[in-house]
Amino acid sequence: MSGQRPLLPFVCAPGYPQAAAWMAALQEAMPEECVVALDTLNADQRAACEVAIVANPQPADLRTLPHLQWVHSVWAGVERLVADLGGSGLPIVRLVDPQLADTMAEAVLAWTLYLHRGMPRYARQQAARQWLAHDGVRAQDRTVSLLGLGALGEASARRLLSAGFQVRGWSRTPKSIAGVQCHAGDAGLHAMLAHTDILVCLLPLTPQTRGIVDARALAALPAGASLINFARGPIVDETALRTALDSARLDHAVLDVFEQEPLPEAAWQWTHPAVTVLPHISAPTDRTSASAIVAANIRRWRATGQLPQAVDLARGY
Ligand code: NAP
Repeated sequence: MSGQRPLLPFVCAPGYPQAAAWMAALQEAMPEECVVALDTLNADQRAACEVAIVANPQPADLRTLPHLQWVHSVWAGVERLVADLGGSGLPIVRLVDPQLADTMAEAVLAWTLYLHRGMPRYARQQAARQWLAHDGVRAQDRTVSLLGLGALGEASARRLLSAGFQVRGWSRTPKSIAGVQCHAGDAGLHAMLAHTDILVCLLPLTPQTRGIVDARALAALPAGASLINFARGPIVDETALRTALDSARLDHAVLDVFEQEPLPEAAWQWTHPAVTVLPHISAPTDRTSASAIVAANIRRWRATGQLPQAVDLARGY
């Protein structure tokens, strides 16, 4: 029973194991709403819903809500929603959470330091019981470049700067961030790659970014550079990546995201000596902070009718 409270359906993939935990966190953040699982609603109740909170929803489920005005995703990456719902014109609001940006910035710094301090090489040496020290490189002599200077890229750039690295970044539109050498556009990409020791991918997956880290981009990196992909698997051409790693032109890749997830057992990345595989854990959504942000957005919309900034469906992010 919702009483006087508006119904707010939570719409997710069938069998999503965290559905109950999400609904509890969302309900706690907005006691004035009645957060409910979609499949508990009858047709009249569905007709009363104007906004839904979504986590990988089935488009057919959303079509059972005839008066839906917009959806709020609890994830930052919305390529699947854009592909599924873009044609309908339904506004999609994604999660923009400073806590998420902070968690991602921490991951970027952690894995940058892992590469910077030569951990993959020392791990190989340990396996071979080999005692051998190599010269180090100072952080100020190492350039880390970010593909994407959005919410996550900018927070990561600042964290890398505070750790002493040279930082560059690339975005679609020109940016100005103190201490960061910013590049934009096609020409900007290759200018940046040529000066990159560690390339960190934090782009959204769109038709323009799919496969953008291809053989040509990898060849533009100086020999011995490394790659961190914390964005989406299909942004990196996995065949080109494997070739670059096999030839040792690219020293190492830290991969948190893949074309297919979970990464299939037979995938080459599992056993490649120059690859570190992570199971999509670089920046998990924090349910408490995310729920507070979703709650504030919905509260503002109920009070003023003002929609939070929605994803640009033409741009794809
Ligand atoms: P965002 O705020 O939308 O920023 C995207 C950045 O990419 C912007 O700087 C944008 O340029 C740039 N960009 C987009 N298309 C481009 C293009 N064609 N050429 C050059 N630059 C382009 O996104 P975000 O919140 O930082 O998140 C980025 C991605 O991280 C998400 O889409 C998601 O896939 C991924 N993610 C991964 C995890 C994980 O755990 N692995 C967690 C959360 C998010 P402009 O500034 O010019 O618009």
